[in-house]
Amino acid sequence: MGTSFMTGARPRGARDCRRASLKILGASRWVLPPLLASLSVAAVAVYHLVVPGPVRAQSGPWSDSLLPRLRAAATMVPGPAPMAVRVMRFGPMSLPESYFLQDGTARTIPATYTVFQLRFADGWIMVDAGMDPEVSGDSSAAYRAAHEVVQRALRGARTIVVTHEHHDHVAGVIRSPALRMIAPKTLLNRAQVRTLQDRPNVPQIRLDSVSAGAYLVVDFDFLLPLTPGVVLVRAPGHTPGSQLVYVRLDSGKEVLLIGDVAWSMAGVEQRRQKPDSISKDIGEDSAAIQAELDWLNRVNSTTSVAIANSHDDRWLKELIRRGALVEGLDLRE
Ligand SMILES: [Zn+2]
Repeated sequence: MGTSFMTGARPRGARDCRRASLKILGASRWVLPPLLASLSVAAVAVYHLVVPGPVRAQSGPWSDSLLPRLRAAATMVPGPAPMAVRVMRFGPMSLPESYFLQDGTARTIPATYTVFQLRFADGWIMVDAGMDPEVSGDSSAAYRAAHEVVQRALRGARTIVVTHEHHDHVAGVIRSPALRMIAPKTLLNRAQVRTLQDRPNVPQIRLDSVSAGAYLVVDFDFLLPLTPGVVLVRAPGHTPGSQLVYVRLDSGKEVLLIGDVAWSMAGVEQRRQKPDSISKDIGEDSAAIQAELDWLNRVNSTTSVAIANSHDDRWLKELIRRGALVEGLDLRE
């Protein structure tokens, strides 16, 4: 079976189910205020953060003490937290549940590609970068229009991070016509760079050592406070460079962007992994993913933190309905 999130090829049976819904709220122009520049430096300066804390019965870092640590880390960089987490959904498709979940049925469920925007009062951070029509294999007018919006958002962003180094999350940066402007403000972790150099999941996103040098590369063990209210959490498993993005909004609402730890929210709710055959193809570390799913399951069932993955369209729409995510990107300066 083709594996769209993995190779860019559309699986058999995939079909467009809806036009991508886009919301563009104004023109963007990129500037880098000194404040944000200094915040980035501050964030990089603490990249070796080690937070001491009691180790609970749960294995490794995925214990019940983690959420309090994230909340504390989110206050480490002074300043106003983001006002909203916005999401842009594009490239809609329908895929059988058996593609998302081990022992899933043939019933099709709606899937999508996404980028997220952490919207501050005076700028934004992009989480993930989509991919161009060539890599996606979708040259429809709707897809091309969506790609243009994503590129504008990347050009206008102060900082860009990616949940992981797969093509549908990072090609929008690596293959961007504006790479020269975008690369220096794209913060990749060391493991992401290593994968992109040594074994990218599609050849079009391979980095060589010269091009890798254009990015802002950070190396951190577990937590990296990025800005006020935003913390990166290393979560290798789906890929070596996978990371979660914890966001505590100015309002106090919390959102956790988990990338592709689970393609379907049912994976979190039922602590169920992807199908074995697909997981092996990707080269996932299933023990690591299980520890992450177990923790996410506890967070989901015991707190009000909104957990958003990248491809489960029905769940993303539900989070929009609940007000945890805001639909469409706000590209106003
Ligand atoms: Zn993906």
